[in-house]
Amino acid sequence: FAINMSQLQLEDELGKGAYGTVRKVLHKPTNVAMAMKEIRLELDDSKLNAILMELDILHRAVAPEIVEFYGAFFIESCVYYCMEYMDAGSLDKLQAAGVPEDVLARITGAMVRGLKFLKDDLQIIHRDVKPTNVLVNRKGEIKLCDFGVSGQLEKSLAKTNIGCQSYMAPERIKGESQNNVGTYTVSSDVWSLGLSMIEMAIGRYPYPPETYANVFAQLTAIVHGDPPELPEDFSDDSRDFVARCLHKVPELRATYAELLEHPFLQADRGRSVDMPKWVIEALGFREKKLAEERRQKLLHDTSAV
Ligand code: ATP
Ligand code: MG
Repeated sequence: FAINMSQLQLEDELGKGAYGTVRKVLHKPTNVAMAMKEIRLELDDSKLNAILMELDILHRAVAPEIVEFYGAFFIESCVYYCMEYMDAGSLDKLQAAGVPEDVLARITGAMVRGLKFLKDDLQIIHRDVKPTNVLVNRKGEIKLCDFGVSGQLEKSLAKTNIGCQSYMAPERIKGESQNNVGTYTVSSDVWSLGLSMIEMAIGRYPYPPETYANVFAQLTAIVHGDPPELPEDFSDDSRDFVARCLHKVPELRATYAELLEHPFLQADRGRSVDMPKWVIEALGFREKKLAEERRQKLLHDTSAV
């Protein structure tokens, strides 16, 4: 069935990205809660159908580790993209206290299976692996979203701001600076996976902006510096797993099949992890932190008067 705007009741805003806004919506005919992403485009109408055709592949992207796609439609120069609503949001909002190793292994396993499914079954390279594109629900399920299915869509994105946190692999940063787009392979996603794991473990982006004078210095560190590592209090297996993702030379990075057989993920399969409990605690931690930030801001604002 095809979804259109008149069937949707708009609810809260869930977040903003570089290309637009994500809102919670209710699909009235089915009573299903969905997340609707609005993407502003710069293009002529002739491209719209090409994009819709490319997006159609998403209907085949059905796997436990992939956010379900419900449909897309255009209004004026925006594409509206409806997907499964994930009621605990993205990982960046759950990682502030740092993700413990058993939970990290569970999340990583889901990410590797999801990425392997996209590659093996749909011949898709994700291209945007990072904590904001890994979604979680209160059942403790982990699912990937925002993978690069449409070349036409990518070319038409009206980029409003460039992020100051790059998850791009060194070879991709080098390629872009030389205007060479052919350097992207599946192993570039493996780098982004390793970087995301460190971010989850320590609760912040591994190349902290305050250390680098500007984005250029940060990108230089990614390209020329040693790759970051998991902290020492993580197990040798987990540290080795991340090191295998974060090789500077793409050919030396592990494949998804190798990662799935790594002791770090093998141990996960033999262990029970209470994911719903972790989700509730992580959401609680975030609530407390936001409340404290609001309190500090209020104090600051009143003292400034
Ligand atoms: P970027 O634009 O750089 O990709 P982003 O991934 O944060 O960054 P969006 O993809 O536009 O930007 O998403 C914005 C926010 O909306 C996300 O950070 C996430 O918290 C929330 N979000 C996105 N999709 C869903 C969903 N299906 N269910 C619940 N929340 C979502
Ligand atoms: Mg996203």
